[in-house]
Amino acid sequence: YLATFQGSTHCPAWKLTWKSCPPPRVKFFHWLANLERCWTADRLARHGLPHPARCLLCNQAPESIHHLFLACPFSK
Ligand SMILES: [Zn+2]
Repeated sequence: YLATFQGSTHCPAWKLTWKSCPPPRVKFFHWLANLERCWTADRLARHGLPHPARCLLCNQAPESIHHLFLACPFSK
């Protein structure tokens, strides 16, 4: 059983998502963001759906979950 996890990485983010006490909708959003399942422009593009070319908040970079949470100057 342990051999199946050989070389895998351990991410404790699940504790932040499921062992904290925010409202369930916040937990669900955090879970989606952690899995990169939020409908950002890069995900819309991967699914062939209409999407803006750049971030709608700052108009400086392509929109992705990483950009929105970490790099966007508007959301900092
Ligand atoms: Zn931005």
